[in-house]
Amino acid sequence: MKIVRFETEHTQASYGWIDEDKVGVIQGDPFGEFRRYDPEFSLAQVRLLVPCTPSKIIAVGRNYEEHIREMNQTPPEIPLLFLKPSSTLIRSGDPIILPPQSERVEHEAELAVVIRKKSRWLRPETVQEAIYGYTIANDVTARDLQQRDGQWTRAKGFDSFCPLGPWIETELNPADAMITCRVNGILRQMSSTRDMLFNVEQIILFASSIMTLNPGDVILTGTPAGVGSLQAGDEISIFIDGIGSLVNPVIAGKAYEA
Ligand code: ZN
Repeated sequence: MKIVRFETEHTQASYGWIDEDKVGVIQGDPFGEFRRYDPEFSLAQVRLLVPCTPSKIIAVGRNYEEHIREMNQTPPEIPLLFLKPSSTLIRSGDPIILPPQSERVEHEAELAVVIRKKSRWLRPETVQEAIYGYTIANDVTARDLQQRDGQWTRAKGFDSFCPLGPWIETELNPADAMITCRVNGILRQMSSTRDMLFNVEQIILFASSIMTLNPGDVILTGTPAGVGSLQAGDEISIFIDGIGSLVNPVIAGKAYEA
């Protein structure tokens, strides 16, 4: 099932579900007790929002060997975790804003996991129950600032640096899903999730040994090779087999924006 958050001209933000080209309202808690109503809106008529409201966005660095090689790094022995603030989130269609502090902003196409329930110290036999579904993320990164700072909060923390969506697919098999990233129609990244160093379950197990995972929390699982720079005027499109497409324009940002 595809789960969305959406609004219309006449209705406030609500969770919903997609049936072909229509959207039905979900009443209640989509991560707990809820009721699905018959689809009443056409997809074209609604505005899809970021599909969940995470208390935190956890991300994994250096999780694909080819990408580690292109960055001249060595593979980590345990998952390399970092956090992105929730203020980085934008919906599919919203612009990625290039900050004036950076001269090199790059895309990172990634499979994102959405957490179903409050979880700490998961075990291999309970980890599946913690997964709600999957969506698409772009872990946008100011590469020059990342290299300068030595840690990644600034480089990965600018507003608009986490496009997420367009919906949560609850039935994806994440073991072998193709991730494709195009900028202005030109292929930049194409890899299967089977090339991950640490798979989805290993990443969630590891994260839950450090911090409590909450319903709606998002975990980005790392980017394959082919990261590259974004310029104002570009359009970036990330496709994951079995989910769909996340598409965002890129614009230049200014300091002291009103
Ligand atoms: Zn990343």
